[in-house]
Amino acid sequence: MIVSFPNMGPNWVAFKTFFETMGAEVIVPEPTNRNTIKFGVKHSPEFVCFPFKATIGDFKNALERGADTLVMAIDCGPCRFGFYASVQERILRDLGYKDFRLIPLDQADLLEFKWVKVLFDVSPSKSVSMYSKALKAVIMLLKKAKLLEDIQTAEGLFRAYERTQGDTTHVVNDLLQQLDQTNSLSGLRKFRPIIKNTFANMDIDRTRNPLRVGISGEIHISLEPYVNIDLRKKLGEMGVEIHQSISLYDWVMHKLHVNFHRKWYEHLAKPYVPIDIGGECRWVLGEYIDKANAGFDGFVHEYPFTCMPEVVARTIITNKLKKMYDMPIIYFSFDEQSGVEGMRTRLEAFVDLMHSRRNQDVKTNKVKLVNNQKQYGHYGNNFCHECIELIQPK
Ligand code: SF4
Repeated sequence: MIVSFPNMGPNWVAFKTFFETMGAEVIVPEPTNRNTIKFGVKHSPEFVCFPFKATIGDFKNALERGADTLVMAIDCGPCRFGFYASVQERILRDLGYKDFRLIPLDQADLLEFKWVKVLFDVSPSKSVSMYSKALKAVIMLLKKAKLLEDIQTAEGLFRAYERTQGDTTHVVNDLLQQLDQTNSLSGLRKFRPIIKNTFANMDIDRTRNPLRVGISGEIHISLEPYVNIDLRKKLGEMGVEIHQSISLYDWVMHKLHVNFHRKWYEHLAKPYVPIDIGGECRWVLGEYIDKANAGFDGFVHEYPFTCMPEVVARTIITNKLKKMYDMPIIYFSFDEQSGVEGMRTRLEAFVDLMHSRRNQDVKTNKVKLVNNQKQYGHYGNNFCHECIELIQPK
């Protein structure tokens, strides 16, 4: 059995461990590229969401490289995500890819433990040892997912301070390779200090006073750099600190009902959207309010073209929340037509807007600078605070 799964940025590191720990051979999906998208666009219904097109292209690449088992997350709605797996399977079979199994991974409520069946399905050995392997696979997935989140957190902060453009990207790529090769629990326990020390050794300019921006939106678009045209990197290289709470770990914790900052966002969003309508709608609204209260300089909302839940979030922010909280926001809707230059121009204008707003706030004493730097309220998880300490002027 040769297992593969769709791309979602650097999270292949965690998924690979998950299946390899069960004894399955894994084909890591080829990075999403132009041909992946071309295939997806050609063979998908025209108005289906963009992540559907990108992930069916990933599956086609995996099948052509020898995978015979594809794993795809499913949900019980409320948006189109619930139908991805079955429609994609039908399309691939109609195109002549017959010798594969598509295993749906039910993520609607991880505490129902339906996902355990996926682990047993991909395990080549059906002996009692399968149970202990399954436990180890889950622990390894959670630990790697958390470490990937930590790398993402540090990357968002340090890129705004790097003296040589590209240093942060090199550090991140090195760490991803190291994390992929660390497959023992003792190795993973020691990995967090490795992340911290590697970033701490970067050559950074601590005297900078970057803008602080939150990013949120639909999860696939937010985590897969090819489909969001590497928005995080481009904004970071314009000297902006990025705070993104969406990650694989964040999502898994949410589905295990132990993600308390998501519960806080739900509470903040409740007057506007009291129930889950799909995508990240509720959490985007909550995060916008939370980051505005914490004094952030701006917010980026990214989502696939035709994504109904995210369009609802956009409409509520534009018509209601923006007037109440007055935090600048920019929206990016991505599909196969999205181009890099249009995005760069819009980002530059957005950064200029945030700078002039900050200068105005300083002039009118709404914001006070300490050591020429804007002070922000307490924000982020423990690792974020440890990273912020590392970039403080000495
Ligand atoms: S969240 Fe949006 S993009 Fe994702 S399946 Fe639902 S409607 Fe489509």
